[in-house]
Amino acid sequence: MSAPLFDRWTALQAELPATARLLAVSKGQPAEAIRALAESGQRDFGESRLQEALPKQELLADLSLRWHFIGRLQSNKVRSVVRAFPVIHSVDSLALAQRLSRIAGEEAQRPEVLLQVKLRPDANKGGLLREELLLAWSELRSLPSMTVVGLMTMAPMGCEADERQALFRECRELADHLELGECSMGMSGDWHEALAAGSTWLRLGSVLFGPRPSASPAA
Ligand SMILES: *Cc1c(COP(=O)(O)O)cnc(C)c1O
Repeated sequence: MSAPLFDRWTALQAELPATARLLAVSKGQPAEAIRALAESGQRDFGESRLQEALPKQELLADLSLRWHFIGRLQSNKVRSVVRAFPVIHSVDSLALAQRLSRIAGEEAQRPEVLLQVKLRPDANKGGLLREELLLAWSELRSLPSMTVVGLMTMAPMGCEADERQALFRECRELADHLELGECSMGMSGDWHEALAAGSTWLRLGSVLFGPRPSASPAA
């Protein structure tokens, strides 16, 4: 792999405690960049758009990578996502989770799911509100063909570092309250705060690969 990518990956890994893992967000990156990073030992890759991910997955089918879906999940894409992604970080409503479980059952799959939560008002993002999650929890946890392993959250744009850290801590506390191990939080701009708050999956794109060569709208 190219030296700078390897160096960045090694430096990031060195900063992570055993409790946190790096999800390499490869949206906007060509298959060759993913292959190069996989040579270092990186196995978990995140993609946010199905149409972009599927051809890359095909090109990389000889590697045993674990693909995570991190983008907004449209209900008409659930079947394709369930077929291609064993981990889904962006389940943002009870209705979507019910549909996902039904379709996963039909496909003989059982994806690991992180429920996306919205702990601050944010018109640009989806997510279950805390009250919605707590109300739906007994149903969510017993859906037969998916396993809820954690929560995922994102900070609203323009949040200060201390506000982000408070938000991430609330997410961690909510996950602990529900006895969920995983917290998917932290991107290139805020992963230090997320890590300090107890993130277990840091979703890192540009800080790892460098700027995305092709424009990719934020999920
Ligand atoms: C693009 C994206 C990331 C990674 O973003 P960077 O700022 O490049 O690290 C993380 N999570 C989600 C949901 C994304 O869409």
